[in-house]
Amino acid sequence: MNEFCKNLPKIELHAHLNGSLSSQTLKKLGCFDESIEEYHRLNKVMERSSRTLDECFLLFKVAHNATRTKEAVYTATKDVIEEFFNDNAIYLELRTTPRSEECMTMEEYVETVVKAIQDNKLNIIVKLLLSIDRRYQLPASDNVMNLIIKMKNKYPDIIKGVDLSGNPNVGIFNSELFKKAKESGLSLSLHCGEVKNDKEVEEMLFLNPDRIGHATCIHPKYEGSEELWNLYCQKLIPAECCLTSNVVCGTSKSYANHHILEWIKNDLPFTISTDDKGVFNTTLSTEYELLQRHFDLNDSDLWKINYNSIDYSFAESSEKDKLRDIMLEWKTKYMK
Ligand SMILES: [Zn+2]
Repeated sequence: MNEFCKNLPKIELHAHLNGSLSSQTLKKLGCFDESIEEYHRLNKVMERSSRTLDECFLLFKVAHNATRTKEAVYTATKDVIEEFFNDNAIYLELRTTPRSEECMTMEEYVETVVKAIQDNKLNIIVKLLLSIDRRYQLPASDNVMNLIIKMKNKYPDIIKGVDLSGNPNVGIFNSELFKKAKESGLSLSLHCGEVKNDKEVEEMLFLNPDRIGHATCIHPKYEGSEELWNLYCQKLIPAECCLTSNVVCGTSKSYANHHILEWIKNDLPFTISTDDKGVFNTTLSTEYELLQRHFDLNDSDLWKINYNSIDYSFAESSEKDKLRDIMLEWKTKYMK
């Protein structure tokens, strides 16, 4: 491991709670032995060759199965926060889809995640984004959005935004729903252009979300189009770049051919994220190491990406100031 990438104070803006569960946490949640076996089997398959998106979604299902009780959700959240902290993340935005289980309502699920965040005593600021799954249709999607808005009003310091996620090959993007979220004061981060869908990408960009996830199929070289790329360049919406996730899922052919190259070349806003560090067996430090290795960036570039990411975060402005101070102090101490 590159010591600089490990020690650098880092900002994580795109981490799904369930996909971030490490195998240690899954083991700890022990009552799901069958799922864990499946998890390891699939993980082994993943090491050998790249997987399709659908196969990755099967893996996410295994992690979901491990968190069917409030106790498990609490432990999972606590562990993920601790693991990011141990990887020297100083700010973490977790995201998760509110869901109900046999012994837990959707609201209780959110309450449990919030409680674990509130109980965090580590030196890492943690915020929560609640996700709408692409599979949800009206009126279910509207009900979930109403719950998200209600929970945001109850925990305005923790719940900061809404995310649209799920299998990009299914479901639709309902812009009206996200307009409503925006009007209620929630920030927006949309998984955007993971697969080619020019019309949807255009609609998303026109909504002016605060950030977009992946941004894979926008540039004409990466299955997007000139029109979309021009629109993106006008909007300059920060992109959440998840290298390992994209390569493992096959939405990017290789690290060297990753679309983030266009962002680097054109000095466009982006942040580096893990997406699902458990499913993809990665860490935020590893993602920075990959970025440095494949795109010839120096230590100062990596520091700047994190420093800029503070601006793109949904933290309060006083928290952003604090994060900037930490990064500047670290730079003075450890960088020539
Ligand atoms: Zn994601």
